[in-house]
Amino acid sequence: MNALHNLKHLAAVVRAHAAHLPERIAFNDDAAPALKAQHTATDGWSLESLRREFWQQYAPLSRAEPGPLPPLAVQFAGYAQWQRNCPQGEVPDRQLAYWERQLADLPALHNLPLDHARPAVLSFDGAVHGIALDAPALDGLRKLAAGRQASLFMLLHAAFSLLLARHSGSDDIVVGIPVTARRNKPVEGSSDYFANTLVLRTDCGGNVPFIDYLGHVKARHLDARSYQQVPFELLVERLQPARDASHAPLVQIMLAMADAPGAEAAGTKCDLTLAAATSADGLQLNFAYNAALFKPATVARMARHLAHLLRAIVADPACPIHALPMLDDEERRQMLERFQGRVADYPREATIHGLFEAQAARTPAALALVHARTTLSYVELNRRANQLAHYLRAQGVGGGSLVGVCLRRSAAMVVALMAILKAGGAYVPLDPNYPDQRLADMVDDSDIAWLLTQRDLAQRLAGHPVLGRERTALLALDVLDETLALQPYTDPEPAAAAGDLAYLIYTSGSGGRPRAVRICHRNAVAMIAWGGREYSGEELRRVLCCNSLNVDLSVFELFVPLSHGGAVVVVENAMALLDGSPDITLLNTVPSACRALVDSGAIPIGVRVVNLSGEALPPVLVDELIELPQVRRVCNLYRAAEDATYSSWISYADRPGESVSIGRPLDNRRFYILDARGQPVPLGVAGEIYIGGAGVALGYLNRPQLTAEHFLDDPFRPGGRMVRTGDLGCWREDGTVDYLGREDAQATLRGCRVDLARIEARLAACAGVSAAVVTAMVTAPDRQRLVAYLTPAAATGPTGRAGADLVAGARAALQSALPDFMQPAAWVVLPALPLTASGKVDRKALPAPRDTATGLAYVTPATRLEELVATLWERQLGVPTVGVEDDFFALGGDTPLALGILAKLSLIMGVALPSPEFFAAPTVRGVAQAFERLCGGAGIANDIVAVHRIATCRNPRWPP
Ligand code: AMP
Ligand code: MG
Repeated sequence: MNALHNLKHLAAVVRAHAAHLPERIAFNDDAAPALKAQHTATDGWSLESLRREFWQQYAPLSRAEPGPLPPLAVQFAGYAQWQRNCPQGEVPDRQLAYWERQLADLPALHNLPLDHARPAVLSFDGAVHGIALDAPALDGLRKLAAGRQASLFMLLHAAFSLLLARHSGSDDIVVGIPVTARRNKPVEGSSDYFANTLVLRTDCGGNVPFIDYLGHVKARHLDARSYQQVPFELLVERLQPARDASHAPLVQIMLAMADAPGAEAAGTKCDLTLAAATSADGLQLNFAYNAALFKPATVARMARHLAHLLRAIVADPACPIHALPMLDDEERRQMLERFQGRVADYPREATIHGLFEAQAARTPAALALVHARTTLSYVELNRRANQLAHYLRAQGVGGGSLVGVCLRRSAAMVVALMAILKAGGAYVPLDPNYPDQRLADMVDDSDIAWLLTQRDLAQRLAGHPVLGRERTALLALDVLDETLALQPYTDPEPAAAAGDLAYLIYTSGSGGRPRAVRICHRNAVAMIAWGGREYSGEELRRVLCCNSLNVDLSVFELFVPLSHGGAVVVVENAMALLDGSPDITLLNTVPSACRALVDSGAIPIGVRVVNLSGEALPPVLVDELIELPQVRRVCNLYRAAEDATYSSWISYADRPGESVSIGRPLDNRRFYILDARGQPVPLGVAGEIYIGGAGVALGYLNRPQLTAEHFLDDPFRPGGRMVRTGDLGCWREDGTVDYLGREDAQATLRGCRVDLARIEARLAACAGVSAAVVTAMVTAPDRQRLVAYLTPAAATGPTGRAGADLVAGARAALQSALPDFMQPAAWVVLPALPLTASGKVDRKALPAPRDTATGLAYVTPATRLEELVATLWERQLGVPTVGVEDDFFALGGDTPLALGILAKLSLIMGVALPSPEFFAAPTVRGVAQAFERLCGGAGIANDIVAVHRIATCRNPRWPP
């Protein structure tokens, strides 16, 4: 007996109902045998033969006669034995070698976007979504396949992998297909488990005609079939994918014909299984998915997209694969129309200063500007700007001439901007806090003929070969006071049109020479008009002006209030709020700077709105801000320098939930999220953000090539222009956009894209953590590791234990929430994150984690004095942990820094250590000992009590 014979030894794992399995079974017409089995015991193929043989044997056995089937030649144990011996025996090395070659550097995981974060341990919560193609459609597919000597299954595989490529943004697509191992005659009739999974990897990289791609898929199938004897388990053993309970090894997506052996179980451990079934009615495509990962709507979308792709393939099999349409008309309309910014009226022919002049005429006496003790009403500000404008005109400024502004933050700075615009010029911000070299690059690039400055700065500028060059007239406004007072204070004749250049914004770009974005009046006016609609008069009553003019945030905080009757409160920078609490209603800054303000309780009592922009906004920060009684709402504003100030936004008056979006396009803005081939990506799928509409700048200054690369014709809006941002984003179902990071800063670990922002958000939500940054560090040419940087919340004590506890807590939280490959390999605790000049986290300035492999062992300070020295070095060098044996210069110190530290130490110790002593032994211990010698004994160290030390955890896993 074959299958039936096996039933007895399967009794332990197979539970048969309707009768105990006995020598004699009698079924009457109403009774039916039911069989329930574990998938490790039997497979679908087996059940079918079991059913057949059962009835063959049943009749004779029920009459107590011998059954017709001969005993089984090979028992499962024998097969298992054979399988175990495979590598030496029937599975030749050639077979294994094929798979090892095929699957070298296999991505650890597919890159399909998930609706729910992948849990550290994956549970399977199955659901199915089906879609049907009618008989003529199936017929078309069959004919197409037959014409290329391919099977329908191969054709479906080709289309399915294209679907996966388009949804995951990857070209390296891995799909598992179930096969039966019953190619060996002896086991063919057995009812045990012989299913195997073949791992098929296809390359969707080239944009080849679909029929060529089908040829590629077919070749993979034929190869795989001839090497199919290698059991999946053996492959896993050989390839050693990292053990990770968050996903199945090697392959997580399956494809099967529903009537093929093994299909019924293909879904069990997978993220997604497509089972296809044909019938007289047509083709049924069932997507079985893990509901712990995907939402039903997402899978329904994928199913629709596959059906659309299949129809397109039949319609035009020679179409290049990435040009095949996948979205239906409704979806395109949704993304290209419904999700777009409102079309709103704005004064298209107005200028920035024209809006201000009109406001000054409406409310001449209203407060316009506050700086320290200076206040100016609208009419005062306007008159001073007019006087300077008349003077500049007389100097020849006009017709779009570029005028540099290098002024300290003051009323004069705002006067200068308005005056340049009124004179018909465009301003070029030159922040005096920037290093000379950076300013020189900008002066050189913009070739300005005038530079407005003030007496003390003029001396510095004049002494510099570029900044003080002859071609540029330095005009010190405070020197010109008397001359200016003689100028007329009436509005000058309009000298600029809406399409004329208004200002430059320099962006650093990715390395190299800074480049200037040319913004015209109309670009800014569209944003200013939006601001007037979205921010109330009360909210704009007193707006903090804290951003450098070199950062385009300043455009919002200056010109939105000044066009709508509000006042501008000028301070040095956002950190000025730590020293004083001016009366302001709106704060406009970057999240990192705001974080520091919240931690210090420095959000002024009058603040109604907080605008945040420039970097990913942690949800916890929104929560904490909203909890402040004075704050009514928090706005996340997304911007790119190439689009005037803000491009998209969202206003939260409530807790935003787990993630914060960058909202919707501003009025008169258009957002496109496109794949590498310029096609709109589906909802939920990552693509590059392109911005079109009223804010798109004129281009870069003096960079025709770069301008042509970044500023493109809008393919969806005839006559429109759009700009590529280099940022990744995706549409949410509600039409808001998720920001997914810079395209050039994506972390890819083991072939999987890692969403650093998501890890950061998790960390920032941990108790005791104030802010978190995760970076991918390149440790070897092709290896990256994640490094997490944490800053403790203000309430956490500064002792060493606190740092270690902080990391332990954060690590535990992450381990239970995210899969293995998203776990940081190194942890660094910093007292504060390094910030750029514009207040964003300066990722380049983050210290490398201490790497004990380099031989720099960490020795903790033993005395108070050593601790004091180490702490000072840590602060001054920006190094997270300094051990007593670390060399000052090896840590990046230089002589001026050394002298500064020496002076501080000498002050604290009350004795002056000669600098040669420092340089002779520039380690923490060496310097501490030198002081001890000077003071005549070790005892002095104990007099130092107040050492404020933020300890850093040394991670035992770094390096592993
Ligand atoms: P910048 O180069 O300083 O002009 O900054 C522009 C870049 O900052 C954008 O390309 C984004 O990568 C990032 N950015 C701006 N606003 C946001 C925001 N609200 N959320 C996340 N990232 C942002
Ligand atoms: Mg911008």
